[in-house]
Amino acid sequence: MGSATSVFGSEGIGPSALPDGRTAPDAFAADPEAFFGPRHAERFGADPGLLVKLLDAGERLPVHCHPDREFARRHLDCPYGKTEAWVIVEVRSPEPEAEVFLGFREELDPAVLAGWVSGQDTRAILGAMHRIPVAVGDAVLVPAGLPHAVGEGVFLVELQEPTDLSVLLEWEGFDIDGADDGNLGLGFDVALRCVDRSGWLKQRLDRLGTPREGGHDVRPGVDVLFPAEADPFFRAERIRPRDAASLPAGFSILVLTLGRGHLEFGTGGSMEMVRGNTVLVPFAAGDCRLVGSLEAVRCMAPHPDAPDVSAPVFR
Ligand SMILES: [Zn+2]
Repeated sequence: MGSATSVFGSEGIGPSALPDGRTAPDAFAADPEAFFGPRHAERFGADPGLLVKLLDAGERLPVHCHPDREFARRHLDCPYGKTEAWVIVEVRSPEPEAEVFLGFREELDPAVLAGWVSGQDTRAILGAMHRIPVAVGDAVLVPAGLPHAVGEGVFLVELQEPTDLSVLLEWEGFDIDGADDGNLGLGFDVALRCVDRSGWLKQRLDRLGTPREGGHDVRPGVDVLFPAEADPFFRAERIRPRDAASLPAGFSILVLTLGRGHLEFGTGGSMEMVRGNTVLVPFAAGDCRLVGSLEAVRCMAPHPDAPDVSAPVFR
């Protein structure tokens, strides 16, 4: 949604079309300040630095991970890695419960991991990972490098760095040629170096799903999602207006996840919104208000003053 990102190696496939017929990247390039505001435009130009998706996992998705910026710059000539994050908006898993897989429980030897991947020992891979039950409303940060898989029946809003760089650890049983397509064209010897093989104790892992300290009700009806370590990559808010919630001027992708209402623009005018609507709100729309009996996720670009770090670090 609002994508300016092309599929890796396929320039032009991926960018969103805006209602006026232009592609998002063409519109952004024509007036970066109007879309992103002066601070963002000064630092990032016409690049939103953000990719937002709705991901509906009809089946459990294969275990994979994404490179961090340092790896992407060194091996792929790409300024972005792919730290991502999830906001769960619906679960409809049968038994036992909706879940995601995240990180290895104990540090893994590189040769052991390489053997599991080349032999597609998916039972061993999944067995070494944390299984985490998820419920509607959960927000989880997934730092670049951390192996992960979304479970069956989980529907989420996904924020990520604007790339589609993935390294597959698992493809057996999926309709994917992982041996060929799962290593970014680098071969698995190199590609597997981007995997975080460290052991994640429960306490460390829990921090990925912990709400922002001091982030509750920062404005009436607005909670900040994700820890501060996510700010160099993206930001997000959960909006639950008690009457109306204020949205200060800024580029955002607004996803209405519940109810209905309307979005009032600071520059005048408004639009109706119902559950499932997604709207690209440019900086030039001014200070907006979201009004109604509803819930929304507001996805925002990286903080313009955040340091350029490779990936969020949790020790
Ligand atoms: Zn992923």
